[in-house]
Amino acid sequence: MQAGSRDLERAAEALASRLPEPLGVYARLAYNYRWAWDPDGPDVFRDLDPERWEKVAENPVKQLQEASTAGLSAAAQNPELLARVAAVEERVNADLNRPPHDGPASTERPIAYFSAEYGFHGSFPIYSGGLGALAGDILKEASDRAWPLVAVGLLYRHGYFRQRIDNRGWQHEYWVDTDPDRLPAALVTDDAGKPITICVHIGTEEVVAQIWRTNVGRVPLYLLDAERPENNESARWITSRLYIGDEDTRLAQYMLLGIGGVRALEAMAIEPSIVHLNEGHAAFASLELAKREYSGQGSLGPALDVARQRTVFTTHTPVPAGNDTYPAHQVESVLEHMAGTLGVNASEVIRLGRTNPEEEAEPFGVTQFALRTSRAANGVARRHGEVAREMWNAMWPDKAVDDVPITHVTNGVHIPTWLGRPMWALLNQHLGEDWLDRATDPATWAPVEDIPAQELWAVRTQQRAELIEYVRHRAVVDRLARDESRPYAEAAAAFDPDVLTVGFARRLATYKRLNLLLQDVERAIRVVGSDRPIQVLLAGKAHPRDDAGKSLVQGLFSMKHAPGFAGRVAYLDDYDLRMAAHLVRGCDVWINLPRPPLEASGTSGMKNVMNGGLQLSVLDGWWAEGYDGDNGWALPGDVDPDHGAQDARHAHELFRLLEEEVAPEFYTAGEDGIPKNWVTRIRRSLRTLGPEFGAGRMLEDYEKKVYGK
Ligand SMILES: *Cc1c(COP(=O)(O)O)cnc(C)c1O
Repeated sequence: MQAGSRDLERAAEALASRLPEPLGVYARLAYNYRWAWDPDGPDVFRDLDPERWEKVAENPVKQLQEASTAGLSAAAQNPELLARVAAVEERVNADLNRPPHDGPASTERPIAYFSAEYGFHGSFPIYSGGLGALAGDILKEASDRAWPLVAVGLLYRHGYFRQRIDNRGWQHEYWVDTDPDRLPAALVTDDAGKPITICVHIGTEEVVAQIWRTNVGRVPLYLLDAERPENNESARWITSRLYIGDEDTRLAQYMLLGIGGVRALEAMAIEPSIVHLNEGHAAFASLELAKREYSGQGSLGPALDVARQRTVFTTHTPVPAGNDTYPAHQVESVLEHMAGTLGVNASEVIRLGRTNPEEEAEPFGVTQFALRTSRAANGVARRHGEVAREMWNAMWPDKAVDDVPITHVTNGVHIPTWLGRPMWALLNQHLGEDWLDRATDPATWAPVEDIPAQELWAVRTQQRAELIEYVRHRAVVDRLARDESRPYAEAAAAFDPDVLTVGFARRLATYKRLNLLLQDVERAIRVVGSDRPIQVLLAGKAHPRDDAGKSLVQGLFSMKHAPGFAGRVAYLDDYDLRMAAHLVRGCDVWINLPRPPLEASGTSGMKNVMNGGLQLSVLDGWWAEGYDGDNGWALPGDVDPDHGAQDARHAHELFRLLEEEVAPEFYTAGEDGIPKNWVTRIRRSLRTLGPEFGAGRMLEDYEKKVYGK
């Protein structure tokens, strides 16, 4: 019996006892997110009370806790709904009860996956963006493959910031409290029913943490939480906000995640065979693993070598600023006690976090530390692997760039999570019911060529229409909340389900170059309003301290009163997993304009591909290996130190493609109203990219290239 599973069962039973008896099944489903990627799972929860489902942000526990008595008793007497939810439970249980597949580890010695953020569902706000979405997709795919994997993270009481844009386009941040008792989570307790706690010395403080468990299918996710009576306010603040600004607190988070995470596993009698660090945030895990091997005499080196044999590391950031560094003295004071317990000098540890260990002035970098203390490391796309080898070559001065020990595993997305229902049904019909089990085989996708154009186009039209309905509602509400005039707000009703819809949604960092859309304002106005119109949906958050990122949105807002814009261009506030699902399902074209070579991978475009969307992107990140000349459109991926000239060139080419290739192909329809060439391109995109960019292929690569070595 795995730690915390009884606690989750008890929570489900307690919830069931407050529901009409026939609805007990809902309470059992609610405490494992496996329903979220069942084809009917989200709908059976929504259909209990569709309006409340929106209000509770699709949180299944809240939906059941807050549903009206009248609504619940109606549901309890609705045989059709009860039959559907019973079918969901049957499928979920069949999946959870399959025997484990050992794969790269074993049930006795599982893989322990460490990540500072997890984005597995919109109702569980412990993620910021791509890194978390990837971690969530990995957990789900590991569950689908019945891999023995447990996950470790932090339970942030205020999550990541929420975004509100004002009517001048400036971003404001706010935080919302998370009450874990209203999440599908339970405190892990011991046999006596007391919470299991661990303790980590951070600086001068003894920080105590308790452990929550939530289930992502077959994968238990354990989340450390410093909200304990033993802790003072500052210690409790360690698990307040994801990517907290204050550096001391941030380092304390990393200590708690890495060192505390390993201790938590030990306290729950889980002994991992592989510790997988998703980014450098959890890198201190190696210290704790080494501690067990250390005699207390002499150098820590041999003990770290033993720890290294278990540890693998994935780096995600080719942008230097994304690789956290801290002044040596700061790390020293945080680590002091840990080093003291180990019997080594903190400076021995700090040296491992420097590119040049002897360079006293060099700060401590978590990426360098993780690279030095793991046996295998990888970037997240082929090109990113090359960039990472070059970027970290100085750590291996004797090696040629190509021999730097960093490989790559290109990211992939969990297909059933991102697939719209209409597209899912279409693929079931044409690829065979069990196609998801064979999704990494190119032969599985071959029948895409035979899907009648009419059917494929009908699905695209339906998914676009669903998105536009969402946008019409969201854009009006966002604009009213910005205190815009009513006519401007209501102009969002002009968004049109039959107009070519392009999406640009991602973190607002300057290297993502939203500004390319603003390079030639008159041309942008022409493109949007032409007789082959394009509507543009934008979303994304800037880092709270990144004023340059924030000013990109301001630049965009300066165009908002241009003729025709109000009903064709919308900036949607507060980009998150739920909004991403709407956008990637509905958009016809997904645009990504990173400055090469700074895009590690990108995954939102893959989500869009699975739904029959087409990519128009710079040949960087995953698209550099995905594009084949006919399955989308590309901008050159060359590196140019003259950023101004490159931006001008790329903006020109972007508009040229939209005007001369994308829009004409979309709007050139035959007698039957179907744009034949567009549909051909979708088929090609699905057939070539479907087998390559799902999470299944990613996990197979991890097994072969990283875990298995
Ligand atoms: C998939 C996803 C991302 C990743 O976006 P990229 O810019 O393509 O890397 C970020 N945020 C959310 C909410 C996502 O769902």
